[in-house]
Amino acid sequence: MERTLILIKPDGVQRGLVGEVLRRLERKGLKLAGLKMMTLDEAVLREHYAHIADKSFYPGVESFMKSSPVVAVCAEGLEAVEAVRLITGITKAREADAGTIRGDFAMSVACNVIHASDTPENAAKEVKRFFNPDELHSYDKSEYMHVYVEDERGEAR
Ligand code: ADP
Repeated sequence: MERTLILIKPDGVQRGLVGEVLRRLERKGLKLAGLKMMTLDEAVLREHYAHIADKSFYPGVESFMKSSPVVAVCAEGLEAVEAVRLITGITKAREADAGTIRGDFAMSVACNVIHASDTPENAAKEVKRFFNPDELHSYDKSEYMHVYVEDERGEAR
């Protein structure tokens, strides 16, 4: 079992895409382990985006990410990090593959609807950054009977 962090960014919230993103995550077969709306401040954004903090475009990213609430999602499944990155699409949304969230719903390199953790190591840190332990839920999902075969189900649990 692996957990990953998704943020539905301010453009996704403003454009009414929260349900659409959740629908795609659920339809894929991922299990929702945590879900909440939150307003991000400078401190958490500097930590979350430390790898781009020295870029000239960072101030724009920070003010965009603070411009309205985001929806934080923790999704769970076998190799969930890679699975979610694949349905997210590349950063520059206007060049993202059709069928991906960014490819289907965005044109911008900055306003690209969602953030998704890029590695299992970063996912573990990011889930901790946005969720307290008591906001994450472990439960059996009956759908798993039909999402995975038995061997995979053991690993996915
Ligand atoms: P990703 O979100 O695809 O993992 P990065 O970690 O490289 O991409 O960048 C983090 C976020 O910073 C992007 O999702 C996007 O919102 C913003 N960003 C990245 N590159 C640019 C850019 N060249 N101009 C403006 N914003 C950018």
